[in-house]
Amino acid sequence: MLVLVVNAGSSSLKSQLIQTEGKHVLMKCLAQKVGAPDATMTVSFAPGFQGETYGVAGLTVEECLVKLLDILATDPASPIGSLDEIDAVGNRLVAGGEYFTGATLIDDGARRHLAEVEELAPLHNPVADRCIDTVRRLLPDTPQVAVFDTAFHQTMPAKAYLYPLPMRYYDDYSIRRYGAHGTSHRYAAQQAANLLGRPLQDLGLITCHLGNGGSITAVNHGESIDTTMGFTPLEGLMMGTRSGSIDPAIITYIMRREGVPFDEMDRILNCESGVLGISGRSGDMRDVLEAAEAGDERSQLAIDMYVYRVQKAIGGFYAAMTRTDAVVMTAGIGENSAALRERIFSGLAHMGMILDKERNDVTGQIGVNRIISIDDSPIKICIVTADEEIRIARETADLVA
Ligand code: ADP
Repeated sequence: MLVLVVNAGSSSLKSQLIQTEGKHVLMKCLAQKVGAPDATMTVSFAPGFQGETYGVAGLTVEECLVKLLDILATDPASPIGSLDEIDAVGNRLVAGGEYFTGATLIDDGARRHLAEVEELAPLHNPVADRCIDTVRRLLPDTPQVAVFDTAFHQTMPAKAYLYPLPMRYYDDYSIRRYGAHGTSHRYAAQQAANLLGRPLQDLGLITCHLGNGGSITAVNHGESIDTTMGFTPLEGLMMGTRSGSIDPAIITYIMRREGVPFDEMDRILNCESGVLGISGRSGDMRDVLEAAEAGDERSQLAIDMYVYRVQKAIGGFYAAMTRTDAVVMTAGIGENSAALRERIFSGLAHMGMILDKERNDVTGQIGVNRIISIDDSPIKICIVTADEEIRIARETADLVA
């Protein structure tokens, strides 16, 4: 089955055209820094994947998708002659609430329920929903599936998913931890088990998805038992533009002190905080690493805080599990930044996570899953290239078939 996977992020669009029978990727698209003046979109086709990069300043994520569909339909290098050849579209959705517990075929009813859970991931779900509407408009006869990041975390026990609030908030509004990045954590765990040459069911793993958004999950015997993201993807780690966990009383204090309305407070926490808020420059880790290198103190502080919070989360889940065999690093920062990995693990050697500096070096190794701890490190450290798209394509094909 030929599946177009659409993975719309807050400031990015990742898409792949995948022939699911042989897991053949026929097209890759990556739009980055969408919304910024230097936004770009790179589209490449099999077999060579010689990408063409387009400037997409001024376009929204869904407008990038329209551009991509146009390129797919008209580019002579495109593997398809017409968009009708696409059998199904698989959409990554960050939040599914308690309503969506697995991948779902999108009909009018599902689309209405998607609107109802938008507020659980205000940076992501509305963008993904607009992409779904765009495809419904342009390809009305092509089935679409939503694959949810929250599904993998449905195995968390109540002690992990409940908040210590009056129980009626869970009973009345389903306020609980849902987690996110589930597709990525599940894939990272399975790939790490392959690297270690042991069945996933025998392992205790701490999977770290560190991208613009970031979350860490305790995967015990293949199941998520706890994760840092919560009711929404705002909880947990310090992120590109999201605060992560802070004292909740700070929010009411600022709102009272400055008369900040609810929506504006939401925006401050989601879009103006995290690495951007502290560095005052950018939420993009590459920019901030570069600025710190050039001597910018606030960028250095942002990196110190980011690293510290990742270390504390790994330590917390080490305590939550009965065994830890490996820590797995994935997504933009986790896969690509040798410097940040070195910083993170330099503070964790006493827990038995001992990085091998040479293996950690990325030169020539980008995209290669590998173990980067020393041979006799009691807990292994792995890098897994995030491949959410393949998993989304497979789940989509299964449902549509
Ligand atoms: P998203 O959460 O939008 O899917 P990604 O997983 O693509 O994001 O991660 C984006 C983040 O990864 C950005 O902060 C980017 O700066 C960072 N990143 C990518 N490559 C590197 C690198 N070589 N060194 C440091 N950070 C990097």
